[in-house]
Amino acid sequence: MQTNKLLVTGGAGFIGGNFVQYMVNKYPQYDIYNLDLLTYAGDLTKHRQINDKENYHFVKADITDRQTVLTLFEKETFDYVIHFAAESHVDRSITDPERFVRTNVLGTQVLLDAAKKIGVKKFIHVSTDEVYGELSFDPSIFFTEETPLQPNSPYSASKASSDLLVRAYYETFGLPINITRCSNNYGPFHFPEKLIPLTISRVLNDEKVPVYGDGKNIRDWLHVLDHCAAIDLVLHNGVKGEVYNVGGRNERTNLQVVKTIIQSLGKSEDLIEFVSDRLGHDKRYAIDPAKLETLGWKPNYTFDTGIAQTIDWYKKNKWWWKPLLE
Ligand code: NAD
Repeated sequence: MQTNKLLVTGGAGFIGGNFVQYMVNKYPQYDIYNLDLLTYAGDLTKHRQINDKENYHFVKADITDRQTVLTLFEKETFDYVIHFAAESHVDRSITDPERFVRTNVLGTQVLLDAAKKIGVKKFIHVSTDEVYGELSFDPSIFFTEETPLQPNSPYSASKASSDLLVRAYYETFGLPINITRCSNNYGPFHFPEKLIPLTISRVLNDEKVPVYGDGKNIRDWLHVLDHCAAIDLVLHNGVKGEVYNVGGRNERTNLQVVKTIIQSLGKSEDLIEFVSDRLGHDKRYAIDPAKLETLGWKPNYTFDTGIAQTIDWYKKNKWWWKPLLE
């Protein structure tokens, strides 16, 4: 790509924030626009090292605000859209599903309309493996791009709905799209309500660590920087209209993850506190990333190297996460 304008939605959040920093640093010749509403999950302090870079721009806006989004697209004529903005926390979708439908479904449709209107070169929709529902504990079975969508939570149902809209804009209008579906991300700048940063922050403070149910639910863990590299690859080399699964081949039970963090920090497993299970808690997610690997992607982090880097980062960057807990 030559000089290009990229719109990243949700670039003040966890994955979008890491992606904005990755792209601003890797491609000084691209103009990166970060559009974010700055909900509880978004913050700009994480971008203090790129704020002054000439190729970084921030726009505060709501993706459901059709007029504002259309005006921005017509003014800036973006070449590419990489869409992360969403309500992303399953527990919050159980207490307030409507917000998830509004942001994740209607917000995506507004962006698709704007992208269609100005004719972007590609629209990447960042989705989740949770749209496929849950797997059994049989370790030989994985989600592939052909697995039927069977979302179980209001969060995953809203993401699946947005995936279907994105697909429909490709099939009906020929909008050049890719959908990526990734497993659980972890790494720097992860909001401390999610399992790994919550556990690290609690253990560092010698506080109890809640574990849902018996802790045997399995997730596949993907380091956020490996995810950023995957999206970069799909942006440049992904075949239009295709879905790509992004997974780390790092399956762990939630209890294993918590115990690893406790051991790494030299604390006692007495900190673990089992709490009532989440409603509709999916048993297992695991992704087969073979299709993405044919494009040349492979993760740089194993779970062991990634979790060590992440714990170290949280120890050194209390300035970022401590205020968020307050
Ligand atoms: P996040 O909750 O950390 O960040 C979401 C960002 O979107 C925040 O900055 C928030 O302010 C912004 N936002 C929310 N509503 C908005 C609106 N109406 N208009 C504009 N901005 C708005 O989420 P994340 O963990 O970085 O996830 C990013 C994307 O990746 C989401 O689409 C999510 O579904 C998907 N995903 C995340 C994971 C994961 O492990 N975190 C796994 C699979 C898929």
